Amino acid sequence: MDIIVLKRGATEEEMRHVVKKLESRGLRVNISAGTERTIIGVIGDTSKVTEEEEDSIRAASGVENVVRILKPYKLASREFKRENTEIDVRGVLIGGKKIPVMAGPCAVENKTVLTAIAEKVKAGGAAFLRGGAYKPRTSPYSFQGLGEEGLEYLAEAREKSGLPIVTEIMDPRDLDVIVRYADIIQIGARNMQNFRLLLEVGSAQKPVLLKRGLSSTIKEWLMSAEYIMSRGNHQVMLCERGIRTFETATRNTLDLSAVPVLKQLTHLPVVVDPSHGVGKRDLVAPMTKAAVAAGADALIIEVHTNPEEAMSDGDQSLKPEQFEQLMRELGAVARAVGREI
Ligand code: PEP
Ligand code: MN
Repeated sequence: MDIIVLKRGATEEEMRHVVKKLESRGLRVNISAGTERTIIGVIGDTSKVTEEEEDSIRAASGVENVVRILKPYKLASREFKRENTEIDVRGVLIGGKKIPVMAGPCAVENKTVLTAIAEKVKAGGAAFLRGGAYKPRTSPYSFQGLGEEGLEYLAEAREKSGLPIVTEIMDPRDLDVIVRYADIIQIGARNMQNFRLLLEVGSAQKPVLLKRGLSSTIKEWLMSAEYIMSRGNHQVMLCERGIRTFETATRNTLDLSAVPVLKQLTHLPVVVDPSHGVGKRDLVAPMTKAAVAAGADALIIEVHTNPEEAMSDGDQSLKPEQFEQLMRELGAVARAVGREI
């Protein structure tokens, strides 16, 4: 026995009754109180629990189900939840038939440029505006992002374009301010195993886009999703953005096999970021099409009105007309695999 799912509306007393039973067997619990329902994760050697005891827990008032899960990630696993998770962000569904596209600059640079990019990606058919206000840069001397000012510009661009916004968190100390502005909180590749940050974001009730670490295995990535979910935030999407390999022709190696692998292992939506995956503008469109063919549930693509002058990731940013053309071409690929753009 590993996970106990409580019924919707189960009372505190019903929960405590189950917890007491488990604790009397020398087990510990993790209570994940989501918006939909509460889940009790059982920690310790559950082999000590006999089948009769398990049945009596299953029959206890307030309990919907008891599930045994062999994988180290529990709440994230397909064993725990068969149906795909759909995340509703301001009425845009991620994980359904339609594949929403998140597009925008790598970094929020100033109000004018952001507003112009938002208009362009909206016209191209994007469903979200992306843009970093807190940027993880390799060099401390590179542009680090505008901070809260950048978040304000994103909120204004959302107001004007109607596009919900995706933006990155780097530090738990910024959580409150980011939660006030963002519709989806991005955890970047470099922070995939920043466990304190994962736990903090797990306490927020905001959808999270969790990028794959630079050299992380799929199992490690799912364990990071589990950190977030263990705190009650079950609105997690996983974003493949390329991994480190020996290959230098592209910035990273976009591991598209991760998409069908994740579809087997987890119920969470899978997002693909071809921009960071390849690092070169001309390679973004073919890999975006491949991502859709592989089964991606959403895409995140960097677009800039003047990529040559961009303050970060200009080389991989599409020009608006390239983005528009890609969006037009993607429809046929999506239809071929039973999806829509
Ligand atoms: C980004 O989205 O601009 C970014 C920094 O991505 P990653 O964390 O995947 O490098
Ligand atoms: Mn970037």
